[in-house]
Amino acid sequence: MADEHITTIGRCYACKRTFGFIPATATTVMIDPETGLPPGMTVLGSFREPTAEATARSVREPICPDCVAKAKRFSEPAIQFETWQRGDPGRD
Ligand SMILES: [Zn+2]
Repeated sequence: MADEHITTIGRCYACKRTFGFIPATATTVMIDPETGLPPGMTVLGSFREPTAEATARSVREPICPDCVAKAKRFSEPAIQFETWQRGDPGRD
């Protein structure tokens, strides 16, 4: 029997709830242990290009299905790994 569907017990990084997941199919998020946020994400919620160091030290943390659903509901499609365009001062 293949044992590739072994369920692992882990703690959701977002809500700290313990849940079972299959590592091969689980949703994970990259977290920079130094900030507790995804690499490149600042505590102010803005995003900038992550440094190579931040990416290297980041670990994958599992996210429970509830939080994945919540994130999908609240996330804007526009939020991607893009460089924010600065300026545009003429906009009002
Ligand atoms: Zn969760």
